[in-house]
Amino acid sequence: MAEISEREILDWLRERDPSRLRELYAWADRVRKEHVGDAIHLRGLIEFSSHCIRQCMYCGLRQANSSLTRYRMSREEILGCARQAVSLGYGTVVMQAGEDDALTAEWIAEIVGWIKRETPLAVTLSLGERTAAELALWREAGADRYLLRFETSDEKLYRAIHPRRSPDGPDRIALLRELRQLGYEIGGGVMVGIPGQSYECLAGDLRTFRALDLDMIGIGPYIAHPMTPLGSGQLRPPVAPGEQTDGSEEMTCKMVALARILCPTANIPSTTALATIDKANGRKQGLLVGANVVMPNLTPVQYRRLYEIYPAKACIDEKPVDCNQCLRGQIHSLGRLVGTGPGSRGEAEEFAGLIEPSDSQLVQVQA
Ligand code: SAH
Repeated sequence: MAEISEREILDWLRERDPSRLRELYAWADRVRKEHVGDAIHLRGLIEFSSHCIRQCMYCGLRQANSSLTRYRMSREEILGCARQAVSLGYGTVVMQAGEDDALTAEWIAEIVGWIKRETPLAVTLSLGERTAAELALWREAGADRYLLRFETSDEKLYRAIHPRRSPDGPDRIALLRELRQLGYEIGGGVMVGIPGQSYECLAGDLRTFRALDLDMIGIGPYIAHPMTPLGSGQLRPPVAPGEQTDGSEEMTCKMVALARILCPTANIPSTTALATIDKANGRKQGLLVGANVVMPNLTPVQYRRLYEIYPAKACIDEKPVDCNQCLRGQIHSLGRLVGTGPGSRGEAEEFAGLIEPSDSQLVQVQA
């Protein structure tokens, strides 16, 4: 695996020269091809509740945002989305919601159990910070993976933008370790360009991806939401002059590329937030610099707009069937393949580099 020093990571994070950046992206793309191959996995996203009891300073779902109409999908609606995932050929559904205490552990477990019994889908949960007992119950019910971004590895910044639920509330990094113990595949991740985030913080995020040996790594630009303290400028975490990172497409792509180089076998999505800041090309850009996963939205269109983590989300009015068509078209236009099956980490390794091999790879295989 590529060794890359701390100094080099910081240099890459500050790099602006387009020809040097092309080298970084090409490197990441080679690592991607070698370790996870050309398949791009589709994970159908079901945003099933926008209720949230937390006060995260960056997120539009925060409880104090009274301008948002809240919704909670019924069991039947969620199961309908799972059936649609199967008919659209997806291997995984991601059930995501705000931290909504009305979603009882038993109710979630029942839904997970139904999906696992009735469909071949892998189930990923992304429900924020829940108790160890709840996480264990869902694992027993058959949940395969859990997504919990730690947002930033900088503890001071994290505490400033992510108030604890209670004084002894859990730490997301500790929870990721707990999830691993329970046998989940674990996904972490960060936002890029958070006010108060320095280049050193981003380098720390990359180190943390490795230290946790994450199975999935989600990296998206921070997008200001005007109804939040961070997005309105009311909260301004301090940062040394010249050290503030930005939430640009370039900075996000550098982080995706470095994450791929440092964590070659991880599943890395090209995120909706990246597609939001560059509606024409963002999704493809991520796939060209190391990503191997996309998350088409399965949330019924009438709820989509209400799951407003940040404003002007990409594909907000697109029906699930259209989302599917569009993403498949983008994947094919890049000369890549649509993955089949659950697409767990490690699954692709035996095929990596052998899917549609180039002539030089064929020679190597034959030799
Ligand atoms: N409640 C769950 C899942 C919903 S939020 C949880 O907290 O894990 C999903 C992700 O959206 C967050 O982890 C965060 O990384 C991202 N997000 C929230 N607000 C954002 C913003 N303003 N800009 C970009 N991404 C944001």
